[in-house]
Amino acid sequence: MDKLPKCPANYVPLTPLTFIKRASTVYSNRTSVIYSGVRFTWRQTYERCCRLAYSLRSLNVVKNDVVSVLAPNVPALYEMHFAVPMAGAVLNAINTRLDAKNIATILRHSEAKVFFVDYEYVTIASEALRLLVASFNDSSSAQLAMPLVIVIDDVSKPTGVRLGKLEYEQLIHYGNPRYPGEDVEDEWDSIALNYTSGTTSDPKGVVYSHRGAFLSTMSLIQGWEMGTEAVYLWSLPMFHCNGWTFTWGVAARGGTNVCIRNTTAVEMYKGISQHKVTHMCCAPIVFNILLEAKPHERCEIKSKVNILTGGAPPPAALLEKMEDLGFHIMHAYGLTEATGPALVCEWQTKWNQLPKDQQARLKARQGVGILTLADVDVKDKDTMESVPHDGTTMGEIVLRGSSIMKGYLKDEKETAKAFKNGWFFTGDVGVIHPDGYLEIKDRSKDVIISGGENISSVELESILFEHPAILEAAVVAMPHPRWGESPCAFVVLKETARSATESEILSYCRKKMSKFMIPKKVEFVKELPKTGTGKPQKVLLRKVAKTLQIT
Ligand code: ADP
Repeated sequence: MDKLPKCPANYVPLTPLTFIKRASTVYSNRTSVIYSGVRFTWRQTYERCCRLAYSLRSLNVVKNDVVSVLAPNVPALYEMHFAVPMAGAVLNAINTRLDAKNIATILRHSEAKVFFVDYEYVTIASEALRLLVASFNDSSSAQLAMPLVIVIDDVSKPTGVRLGKLEYEQLIHYGNPRYPGEDVEDEWDSIALNYTSGTTSDPKGVVYSHRGAFLSTMSLIQGWEMGTEAVYLWSLPMFHCNGWTFTWGVAARGGTNVCIRNTTAVEMYKGISQHKVTHMCCAPIVFNILLEAKPHERCEIKSKVNILTGGAPPPAALLEKMEDLGFHIMHAYGLTEATGPALVCEWQTKWNQLPKDQQARLKARQGVGILTLADVDVKDKDTMESVPHDGTTMGEIVLRGSSIMKGYLKDEKETAKAFKNGWFFTGDVGVIHPDGYLEIKDRSKDVIISGGENISSVELESILFEHPAILEAAVVAMPHPRWGESPCAFVVLKETARSATESEILSYCRKKMSKFMIPKKVEFVKELPKTGTGKPQKVLLRKVAKTLQIT
């Protein structure tokens, strides 16, 4: 038995590219993509991908070239998730909320060969290209070249806006619908490159393999029980870890993609109601958009809508409100380096008997590893020992398994730093409860240490969110003469509750939390500064907190 070779003759590399080919046969006439007035079937989407891949090859795109794209959730970006790797290249979907300087940095660092730009983003893309050329003036740039720029016009209502000579639909038109795509020789070949949002450090280029993308996708469609009748609303940007792998996942199930340009209340409610959406992903911040929508912005929801949420801690109070509105929420935790969601809060049927607020609190925990994650643990960073499963001892969350990235592009040092003994260190601090479910408490740099006590800003924010006047809250450390540091809460009030005062909020905190956790300062702000992925920019808030007087 053990004489059999490791790679038998039937070795077929794992790749999500097989999903779309299969969808074009099995679900050929079923609707694959809906956008504005446009609809495609799976056969049409597959043929468009073959055409685009062929055209990219004709434009000299070869294996391992990076193809960057700056676009919202439009059909072209969806198609590129298949067409770019079919051409052997690596897809780099850029966050559309970045500024021109960051976009130029990404284009330079990734050495993008082609740069697709949605018509709405030509101004910022032109500025990024100008900065890119200007950056070529030093000697380290000798090998660098400008990317070929291709504009993506609106496929439903062409606008005529152009940048460069080529337009996306021309590539589709002149491509070959029978082009089978380049062979994936090795499942470890790269499929996508995603830059981290840089909340705690400089952005890094995270590289995924075909194998990792395939396995993560399979785990997530399985874990979320996504069926073949799924209608998926693109409320989560596809540029976030390739839409948490659902770009590939919807093809695997032959479901329908409902593409929308903006995550406004109107577009989301309309999309859900018109197309009877069954699944969508979003960060918890989007809950506020849905919950705070005015009556004229809402539509009747006729389907059971499953939401997968993550990217930031969802306060239990928000989860409860969303369930009351009729949404069925599943909570996931992940990061760019883990190809999106790595943990899900898998529901236990015995929890069905519990009161709603308790259910919401259980759901707010980050949960257990997805199927393809070999292991999850919380370790003491110094001793590398696992912490006891007591729900209180904090340590760093570590992950191991097939969903984890190949590494950081052109950064061996950071790649080596991220892994220890095969474990990926997330930089997040958490606890494990006696039932084995993990709960995040903070990012290692965000923990507030007050008089030697660790205070979790996530826990504080979650309690603040339960206050009826509070729309958003972010807690950071501020210097304290006696305790070293203590919590400072930045709070955005709801439009209807602008008269709430600091003393009201503090007296509420006194009832809800231990004395040492109570913020020493509540600062009211119109909005919180956010990162490109919509997370509060705690680095900035910490700077402001340093200048404030303790109450
Ligand atoms: P960045 O680390 O630059 O913000 P990511 O978008 O990869 O980039 O964010 C991953 C981080 O988001 C995690 O390390 C964690 O701190 C936070 N996060 C993700 N999901 C959750 C969640 N469900 N609950 C709490 N925090 C989360």
